[in-house]
Amino acid sequence: MLKKTKTILFGGSFDPIHNGHLRLAQIVFEKLSADHLLFVPARRSPHKSELPTPGVHRLEMIRRAIESIPGFSVSDCELNRPEPSYTIDTICYFRKKQGPDTLLYWLIGADQLEDFDKWHNVTELLEICRICVMYRAGYLKPAFERFQSVFSPEHIVHLQQNVIQTPLFDVSSTDIRRRLAGGESVSGMLPNSVVQYIREHQLYGYAH
Ligand code: ATP
Repeated sequence: MLKKTKTILFGGSFDPIHNGHLRLAQIVFEKLSADHLLFVPARRSPHKSELPTPGVHRLEMIRRAIESIPGFSVSDCELNRPEPSYTIDTICYFRKKQGPDTLLYWLIGADQLEDFDKWHNVTELLEICRICVMYRAGYLKPAFERFQSVFSPEHIVHLQQNVIQTPLFDVSSTDIRRRLAGGESVSGMLPNSVVQYIREHQLYGYAH
């Protein structure tokens, strides 16, 4: 039987991409013995109210962060799509592009579970890809009891079986943006190539 290709899709704002994203991506890539991992920066997250940094900068920071990591790439498909842009549209796009012999995984941190049941066409999402929930510092371990009135038992099992017990990385883009704006150190929080890009383009009120 033909072995299915495994493609991991890692969506988010990546404003900016940080070492938490990168370490998690590497760990999950190895755990799943995946073939490809694509970062998929969102044009504007339907879950966030603030306007993000222009996509061209977020895309380039991701490119620089992953340029020497085999198997990793970045897709601009969400940045080029008119709003509103939903995860389900992205999964359908990759499903069509990669065909039925690819297993698609969509990664989310445990913080994303707070309103997961409200995501656009979420039950269809659970049918066409595997949603992998990762642990996140500051949030409870992923648990799905509270979704029992919304999702079928099969979907709950799907979610439970695809939890990935990742180590906790206590880093967030919000904290990095705050530190950069306040002139605080971001040492060890993001790759040097990304810090360099932020400096060159004076993003996030960088004032060092
Ligand atoms: P912000 O602070 O701006 O909300 P973020 O650090 O959460 O940003 P995103 O780009 O929004 O970064 O995250 C993309 C995905 O990665 C989301 O599913 C998020 O839950 C997950 N994620 C980000 N950082 C971590 C982390 N440190 N541990 C686990 N998951 C994370």
